Amino acid sequence: MPDLSPDCRHQPDAAADPNGSAVFAMGANPVDSLPGIGPQRAALLASLGILTLQDLLCHFPRTYRDYSQITAAAGVAEDALVTVTGRVVRAKNIRLRGHQSLAHVVIADNSGEIGASFFGRGFLAGTVFKPGTLLTLTGTAGKYNGVCLKNPEYEVMEEEDAALIHTGRIVPVYRLCDGLTQRMMRRWLRDTLDALPPAFPDILPAEIMRHFSLPSRRDAMECVHFPPSMESAALGRRHFIIEELFLLQCRLLHLRGLRRSGGLGVKHTLNGPFLKNLAGLLPFSLTRSQEKAVSEILGDMCSNNPMLRLLQGDVGCGKTVVAAHAVAACADSGCQTALMAPTEILAAQHAATLRALLEPLGLRVEVLTGSTPKSARLRRDIAAGAVHVVAGTHALIQENTLFDRLGLVVIDEQHRFGVVQRGALAAKGKHPDILQMTATPIPRTLALSLYGDMDVSVIDELPPGRMPVKTRVVPAAKLADMHRYIREQAELGMQAYIICPLVEESARRAEITPVIRHFQELSAGPLSGVDTALLHGRLPAAEKEEIMRRFRDGDVAVLFATTVVEVGVDAPNATIIVIENAGSFGLTQLHQLRGRVGRGSRQSYCFLTGDKNTPEGRERLAVLCRHSSGFDIAEEDLRLRGPGEVFGLQQSGMDNALLADLLGDVRLLQETRSLAADYLLNNPDYYDNITEHIARAGHTRRLATMDFFENVAPSLL
Ligand code: ADP
Ligand code: MG
Repeated sequence: MPDLSPDCRHQPDAAADPNGSAVFAMGANPVDSLPGIGPQRAALLASLGILTLQDLLCHFPRTYRDYSQITAAAGVAEDALVTVTGRVVRAKNIRLRGHQSLAHVVIADNSGEIGASFFGRGFLAGTVFKPGTLLTLTGTAGKYNGVCLKNPEYEVMEEEDAALIHTGRIVPVYRLCDGLTQRMMRRWLRDTLDALPPAFPDILPAEIMRHFSLPSRRDAMECVHFPPSMESAALGRRHFIIEELFLLQCRLLHLRGLRRSGGLGVKHTLNGPFLKNLAGLLPFSLTRSQEKAVSEILGDMCSNNPMLRLLQGDVGCGKTVVAAHAVAACADSGCQTALMAPTEILAAQHAATLRALLEPLGLRVEVLTGSTPKSARLRRDIAAGAVHVVAGTHALIQENTLFDRLGLVVIDEQHRFGVVQRGALAAKGKHPDILQMTATPIPRTLALSLYGDMDVSVIDELPPGRMPVKTRVVPAAKLADMHRYIREQAELGMQAYIICPLVEESARRAEITPVIRHFQELSAGPLSGVDTALLHGRLPAAEKEEIMRRFRDGDVAVLFATTVVEVGVDAPNATIIVIENAGSFGLTQLHQLRGRVGRGSRQSYCFLTGDKNTPEGRERLAVLCRHSSGFDIAEEDLRLRGPGEVFGLQQSGMDNALLADLLGDVRLLQETRSLAADYLLNNPDYYDNITEHIARAGHTRRLATMDFFENVAPSLL
């Protein structure tokens, strides 16, 4: 066994120790210091993100199996979920039609016999299941040659002492990869836990643990992995949830504190002529929430700490005009603005909007994208400070794009850019103010935890006169009527989108209408004679932009598209959007798609088709028909799918269950945030010390979680 105790002294309140040497008792012990782990298994563990023994300890069980209640084999009732233990009496490999097979095994305990069938795994009979093998099975009883457990979880009990960790108790079940087994994981965790020094130090300050009545970190570790009861498993887990939340909030408060105390930003003036005259030039008056957002932004800009603000609001709520106020204030201060958008067409659209508002004031607005002609000359003008505002794409962050005095960075659809890209644009200036915009609302309650170091402004109303989009589910029998309506509207000069989930046929999803076929069939049939066009992700970028441009200019009446159709494109004459197989889209995505219409003053419609919806699919469509605010929909989405799904934690490779818990309990989030704020006030060094020691201890997973919150989570949204 590795020696895990050298630098361990009990240190209940880590913050009290300026060197923090006892924060982690174990140092960076690689996993292969455990017996039974060589290079191969270490590599497998690494693929699960487990490099050190501390990572291993934080590989919390995915779930538990309650083997503590063993049922007598003879008494099992049909449909009951039971655990039985007994010796194999006989085992048969039964060939089925096709190339399938089935293992049928009968085990016996003192009370009698029970069968078990393993569909598709006939090979188990005679190899793993041999007469005399001691087996524990957990499964639901059905009927097949008498009472029989169908595809139960099974565990062969080889050694007598194995009973202590593998069965006869509440057994942890871990996330694995090929080549690793539950048995290995349990053995390694047992060995690691046994090697922990008795005074394994806590990370949470003592007063926080008292506040929540939490067990010590060591006890919590034991409870999480080998719980005596399900209640103690939950209690142990709670320790780590609060630990993670507390550290996260400390980090966010810390980052925010750094930014606010730096005093390195540009102190913009609010008394200049551009900003003053902008008000008189607006063709409309701002909505109340636009006014509020403007004043929050200008409040940040006239301070000498750099702004980092997120402007959230549904598509069409008017974020650009809000940004224009920031641009004007920036120009009044003699600085330039860069506005970055994810596509050329969006960049061009922003430039057009800003030009209309700002050119009459005497500001020069330009577009810089990969296809801008004479871009070298434009770049020279930008570098010389002759251009006040540049709207552009990634071209803005190219090395040869230089600014004279970049004072404001606006990032539209911020989630489409990575942290590095957003940072690269900011780095073109000296601590410029940053305004990020997003049309993907996240529940207000979660904004706090995910954007904890950003300030958030919300626009939660649409401009007056805008009618909510009427949303209807269209049954198959009414499709012909719908096509006739689209044709009539097209003849009146209105436009429609028809959105399909797939580009081409997919054998796996045969019920889904692919956009290419749908375009061909409708263009030749119900919509013949109407100007139609096809847009999907496999077309070259230039062609996609060209098609979008033609649609926006009104040359195309009906656009068949996949979800590549741009979020922010403003086509005021588009009054219809049909979403085919609507049940196969997520709620947020449906809402985003719907936002492509309803941008003018005419009544718009969203038609949802697809009969083969699951109950959840139908529920999503009902939510969409009921609600028009993106915030309400985001809350419903969270309720329906849970935070794990909403935030795509599967792709993140993080410990799903724990993270889902972290994001799921909003009250706990808020409570830890205020506790962390108080604690940091009295113990300003706590956070610095903790992170340093987390890093020194080689706790790779903990660091990854922090990075996830700081970098990945916001960009997933
Ligand atoms: P988004 O928030 O999706 O970026 P835009 O900034 O593109 O929205 O604005 C959508 C449309 O609403 C634009 O045509 C804009 O001129 C218009 N608009 C914005 N604010 C108002 C307002 N207060 N009153 C009327 N129209 C507005
Ligand atoms: Mg926009």
